[in-house]
Amino acid sequence: MRVARFYAPGDIRLEDAPEPGPGPGDLKLRVRNCSTCGTDVKISRYGHPHIVPPRVLGHEIAGEVVETGAEVAGWRPGDRVQVIAAIPCGHCRQCRRGQMTVCPNQESIGYHYDGGFAEYMVVPAKVLRVNGVNRVPEGVSFAEASVTEPLACVLNGQELARVGEGDDVLIIGSGPIGCLHARLARSLPDAAICTAEVDLVDEVRKQTDGEGASVVIVAAAAGAVQELAPQLAARQGRISFFGGLPKDNPLVTLDSNAIHYRELTIVGANGSSPAHNARALQAIASGDVPVADLITHRLPLEDVLEAIEIVARGEAIKVTIEP
Ligand SMILES: [Zn+2]
Ligand SMILES: [Zn+2]
Repeated sequence: MRVARFYAPGDIRLEDAPEPGPGPGDLKLRVRNCSTCGTDVKISRYGHPHIVPPRVLGHEIAGEVVETGAEVAGWRPGDRVQVIAAIPCGHCRQCRRGQMTVCPNQESIGYHYDGGFAEYMVVPAKVLRVNGVNRVPEGVSFAEASVTEPLACVLNGQELARVGEGDDVLIIGSGPIGCLHARLARSLPDAAICTAEVDLVDEVRKQTDGEGASVVIVAAAAGAVQELAPQLAARQGRISFFGGLPKDNPLVTLDSNAIHYRELTIVGANGSSPAHNARALQAIASGDVPVADLITHRLPLEDVLEAIEIVARGEAIKVTIEP
């Protein structure tokens, strides 16, 4: 089969590999869609401490079960499935409290295990143990299902920022994550602000009767925007730092008095739990969060390097690979 393997920063190779066989507790999938994201760009340029090469990349996965391990119950060939990316251990203190997104023993598909930029892949038993495989409902395409994982992360972020009824939600960033945030929080009247044309702080105040936004989600890897967030938030507003900053420049300066006197809350958000994935897929299936039109590019596996470059150039919303 064909796979895209990471060897080193700047060195991802398309090559032939033997088809993997499932262990007793594993599932083997025919990958139908594996979507790309900014993380793939980061890995391709800088590598990742958790990736020991060579490794098949790809973590936004939907496919079809082709073989089940001898001990697997509940799944059979032909089942259409979506797979989580971040695998919590399921038994540490955080996992037992339901805080699976911050499990210190977390492993990930495409990092610790071979991912979905391949014709076939094995879903390890530990994914099944934490309910990390979801049945794709009828009417949901594999491409749409592959957007479940990033939407699950967005769901986690809005949960942590307590986005609710009546909130004015300001989303900074217009990439796939920003778009998914907007779709999920769509109860508000949409207004797009182009910061090249107007001043963001002025415009947000104008549109919120001078109050600021109840929730500010920074879905952009920009420290300057994080620093601006307290000025954009309403009293008792919540700020989500959804995007991480470059590793070599993670420090920002925040107006502590704005946070103190206006009683602001700043929350981080990182990844998603198996339960978030299940709910995200449900939201796609029900039409609550449409994603089909966010998939702007479909490319074969052979073009995965071009796909990553398209993402890097910001020319696409969602680029999906169809191995
Ligand atoms: Zn991703
Ligand atoms: Zn854990």
